[in-house]
Amino acid sequence: MMFANVLAAIDLGAEPARFVLGKAQTYVAQGGKLHVLHVVEPQYVQYSFDPTFTGSLTRELEDNARQAAAAQLEKLCAEFAVPAEQQHVLLGRASDKIHELAESLQVEVIVVGSHARHGWRRLLGSTANAVLHGAPTDVIVARLPAEED
Ligand code: AMP
Repeated sequence: MMFANVLAAIDLGAEPARFVLGKAQTYVAQGGKLHVLHVVEPQYVQYSFDPTFTGSLTRELEDNARQAAAAQLEKLCAEFAVPAEQQHVLLGRASDKIHELAESLQVEVIVVGSHARHGWRRLLGSTANAVLHGAPTDVIVARLPAEED
């Protein structure tokens, strides 16, 4: 089955991202579009335990994280010939942002991996699970190759 408009959601900095992208590409019809999204998840929880915590420090960290993510995403997307306007970095809860972008881009299908970095006992990862719940479109869960844990 092929689609004209596909959204691949990827976790950066790990081999699964490349796998998910490659898999998503196989679902794109000739002349179709592959959109790629990475969500930078906020650091609030982590930094709110820090006594020196300030909102602006967090914002700065988030901005840096966002820029670093955009650079990594660009590199990865270059391998798959995904143009800049189809690369997306958003800040927030991964599953929420994936749903929002899928809706605003009117994609036909979302592609995620079955887990991110570590396939803990090969259970469906929490993001993959959250994406399935309340998804505005069909979701393809790419089963990632087994890892040596
Ligand atoms: P997880 O549920 O975290 O093990 O991740 C499962 C899959 O969800 C990954 O293979 C990605 O396809 C997607 N995913 C996880 N984290 C993110 C993120 N921050 N941004 C976009 N997609 C993500």
